[in-house]
Amino acid sequence: MSALVIDSLTVVFGAFQALDSLSLAVDSGEVRAVIGPNGAGKTTLLDAITGITRPKSGRILLGDTQDLTTLSEARIARAGVRRKFQKPSVFPALTVRENLSLGCGPECPARERAARVAATLTETGLEARADALAGSLAHGEKQWLEIGMVLASEPRVILLDEPVAGLSDAETERTIELIGALRRPDRAILVIEHDMAFVEAVADRVTVLHEGRTLFEGGMAGARADARVIEVFLGR
Ligand code: ADP
Ligand code: MG
Repeated sequence: MSALVIDSLTVVFGAFQALDSLSLAVDSGEVRAVIGPNGAGKTTLLDAITGITRPKSGRILLGDTQDLTTLSEARIARAGVRRKFQKPSVFPALTVRENLSLGCGPECPARERAARVAATLTETGLEARADALAGSLAHGEKQWLEIGMVLASEPRVILLDEPVAGLSDAETERTIELIGALRRPDRAILVIEHDMAFVEAVADRVTVLHEGRTLFEGGMAGARADARVIEVFLGR
């Protein structure tokens, strides 16, 4: 079953086509990486899925049937589609625990909220930092906190934009483990990343975007062996 379906999506900026009838489906339980050269349309795809950018044509479906295409950003988030932006956007003057509590959302009942915050502290490995101010965290810890804030909302679809950009090798290893732990049969994860070793470690399949279209879809080994992918992206 698909968790997220992109159906012939076209996004234009003036005369420029950033996404050109792009179709892709991410299965429930899958971790999918979207890779490709700068300007390929990766961030535009996440902007369209989250309602920040409106497509000219095409549809975005949650779980095969629920049409997200015309919903507001807030309604898309409430439907369970959550995004971690490229730059960590945690609240620096609040503690780790308080940030995670906000991640649960305003409608989460108090008892449920406490349970989710505790579970998320464990999942992200931030228990020892629970009462630290988010502003005092190392860059890697901030990234994990922001992933934790996404998790606390119990998302059905998690969108991650360059989660290991600027991280050390050890922090990248830890992030690989964390993303492995986020996998659930009823959840899909879509990750944009330039670090190919990271992509190979976390993703079931990769979609290679080029000029707003799919150049390749399949395993990372196949992508590495594909002449067109090498020409426009990996060979550079
Ligand atoms: P990627 O994330 O793959 O590097 P983007 O999705 O950010 O690529 O951008 C795809 C293309 O769309 C680029 O050529 C970029 O310059 C253009 N683009 C993105 N956002 C806008 C915008 N708001 N206005 C005009 N052009 C844009
Ligand atoms: Mg981008």
